[in-house]
Amino acid sequence: MLLKSFWFATIFAIAVQGCVSSGDSPIESEHDGRILELKSNRRPAVLDERFIETYLKTFGYLRNEQENVTSEESGEKQIPKEKLQNALITFQEFMGIPGTGKVDAQTSSLMMRKRCGNADIHPSTDILALWKKSVVTWNITHFSKTIKESDFREQLHQAFAAWEIVISMDFVEVDRADKADIVFSFEDSENDWQRDPTHLTIARASGPISSRVWISADEHWGINNELEQTGTDLFNVLVHEIGHVLGMRHSPDSGSMMHPLFERSMNQDRPVVTPDDVERLRNLYNVADPQQQSAENDPANLNETSLTKCIKSIQSATHAPDGRWLVFKDDKVWQTLNHTVMTKGIEIFQVLPSAPTYVNASATVGDLMILISDRQIFGYRQTKRNGQFEPAEGYPKELHSRVLFYPEAAFPLANGSIILLSDNVFATYDLENNAPTFLNDKNVYFPNLPEKLVSGIPQIPDSDNVYWMLTDSDIYEYDARIQQILNSESLTTFFTCDF
Ligand SMILES: [Zn+2]
Repeated sequence: MLLKSFWFATIFAIAVQGCVSSGDSPIESEHDGRILELKSNRRPAVLDERFIETYLKTFGYLRNEQENVTSEESGEKQIPKEKLQNALITFQEFMGIPGTGKVDAQTSSLMMRKRCGNADIHPSTDILALWKKSVVTWNITHFSKTIKESDFREQLHQAFAAWEIVISMDFVEVDRADKADIVFSFEDSENDWQRDPTHLTIARASGPISSRVWISADEHWGINNELEQTGTDLFNVLVHEIGHVLGMRHSPDSGSMMHPLFERSMNQDRPVVTPDDVERLRNLYNVADPQQQSAENDPANLNETSLTKCIKSIQSATHAPDGRWLVFKDDKVWQTLNHTVMTKGIEIFQVLPSAPTYVNASATVGDLMILISDRQIFGYRQTKRNGQFEPAEGYPKELHSRVLFYPEAAFPLANGSIILLSDNVFATYDLENNAPTFLNDKNVYFPNLPEKLVSGIPQIPDSDNVYWMLTDSDIYEYDARIQQILNSESLTTFFTCDF
């Protein structure tokens, strides 16, 4: 089988062996001809299977250890090779190199670079917290022995300023760590702050609402570029970690400040806060645009004026393959997870490229999300790499002419079809053949459904036993097996919305 012959066909001690503990001298990779500085004396001499597995686990590419199989030879739990290979492909795609699933020289070179300790891939259950205030305080508990305190403060001020121009937030130093929202400290590698058995981590940070930024005290830091040839640029690392403090995650764009690898090739440009970074951060905080922001220049107004209010009524809702819900109203979409609203309402096309300006009905079957706008059916799939949505092949399509009504609601069935409804009629619609297979009276086949239904979301994806059934302002638990409503509540109490 192809997969098995691929995996670890290459053992790649490559040019690294014997060079890594030789101090600060840069070495040239045999394979891509680029100069890569290798300075850490804890850097692995050989990337063996165990290292790669550890790396993929540490940075979020590998999960779900219960699926592991027991090795016949050693009796130890092992990750199935295909799973390991898929994780490696996800890593390669994130790093922008061909997803071969093979540990080639390019892959191993990227896997040995010093980096941020935060994960690259997050489980869908990871809820993103955000600051709910516009003045955030900070304190430094442990300074570096090799960097002057005034120099470090200056670097920190500049790094905060890089984000302050993007989002209207003020960062103020306070004199006590227990009063600070963000605590910075230089830490020795002996301390457990890295949580990284690969020892490639030289800084990491936790996000809102109580943030820590750890910086390696052992690292040879470059300040104001003067040590750029021999030290890792401290300013870039601080801007990156403050990005995490604001709630940003890693970007696969190697030109972005939020790229996880700090160690760069000599011919690579310095990272910047890219327009995509700016947009991502502004979307997180729903800051409309700089003009609007300047009109609201008083940071105290931020919460009142630039944040769209929470979900009160909806036109449609469906679940994404990764478990989040997309909730539609007018031209806006909200994303929620486990009843918690994760993002403020933003225009639908910002989340779903080439989307219609409004959604009458939506449903998700397997990994295909369907939006219906008038008589157009739009299809989307979610990328595994970063959870973003992309148009599904073959869509948009025209609704089959035998469906005479304009769908106002939809919900999926376990067999892969969806139910389209309008008033008292429904159609069972086969998405693959883009045609209805059955048309009948809703009250005969789905008695006791709430009036003015807009959406149905199965409580267990791809099952049709119990659904969340939604009207424009309420949500009902509906058991399709006994055709009864079990519970109901308003959307304002169902969704947690405290911003
Ligand atoms: Zn990071």
